[in-house]
Amino acid sequence: MMKRKSWLTWVIVLAAIFFVVKKEPQLVPNTVATVKQTTVKLQPYFYLVRASINNRLKTPLTKETAQAASTDTTPTESPLKNLTTSNTYQYYFESDVPANVRQVFEQAVTVYNQTGLVKLVPGQGKTNKNKVTFFVYDKKLTDPASETVELGNGGPTTLAWNSYAVNSGRAGLNLAYPYIAIKESVAIHELGHALGLAHNHDQSSVMYPLDQGLTTLSTADINGLRAIYAK
Ligand SMILES: [Zn+2]
Repeated sequence: MMKRKSWLTWVIVLAAIFFVVKKEPQLVPNTVATVKQTTVKLQPYFYLVRASINNRLKTPLTKETAQAASTDTTPTESPLKNLTTSNTYQYYFESDVPANVRQVFEQAVTVYNQTGLVKLVPGQGKTNKNKVTFFVYDKKLTDPASETVELGNGGPTTLAWNSYAVNSGRAGLNLAYPYIAIKESVAIHELGHALGLAHNHDQSSVMYPLDQGLTTLSTADINGLRAIYAK
C-alpha cells in the first residue's frame, strides 16, 4: 500500500512538472528549447555469401563502391557529427546475451580501450552519461536471392544540448548465424558504430561494410575515434 502511494505521488509530481514545462516554458530555460531530439542510427552489417563461393571480396558490392574509402580518417556517424561528447562509456549486456557473445564483445571493448582515446568500463550507465548496450537478436534471411547475410547491427543514439551530446550506443549480433556472426571482427565493427564510427569503404578499415575478419583498427579508424573524442 505504501509503495503504491509513493508511486502515485511521483506520477502527480511528474505530471505537475510536465504541465508547468508545457504551459510556461520560460520558467525552465535551457531545458525545453535546447534539447535536440534523439537521433537513432542503427546500421546492419553484412557477410557476402557470394564471397564464400567465389574468391573472398574479389568483387565488392557495386552499390557500396561508390561510397567513400578513406585511408586517412574513418567518417563519423551523422548523429555525432559536429558534436562534442565524453570519451567515457559504461557498458552492459542485456540479460539474454549468451556467454560466447559477451566474450567477443569484451574482446572488442579491449581493442577500443587500447587506443587510449575512449574508456569503456562495465556498469549500467545513467541516462545523462554515455553508455553502450550490447544485445542479441534473431533475424533470418528473408530474401533467398539476397547475396548477403546480416551479421549484426549497431549505432549511436544521441541526445544533444547545443553542441554537447550524450550517446546511448547499441551494438548487437545476429544469433541466426552464429558461426559467422559471433566473431570478434563483427563485435569490433558493431561497437565501432555504437561509438560513432561510420562505414569506411577502405578495405583495411574495421568499418568496411562487409565482414573481412579484421580485428585490428586501421590508422584511419584510430583517426576517426580521435575526430570524435579528442577534439
Ligand atoms: Zn556497419
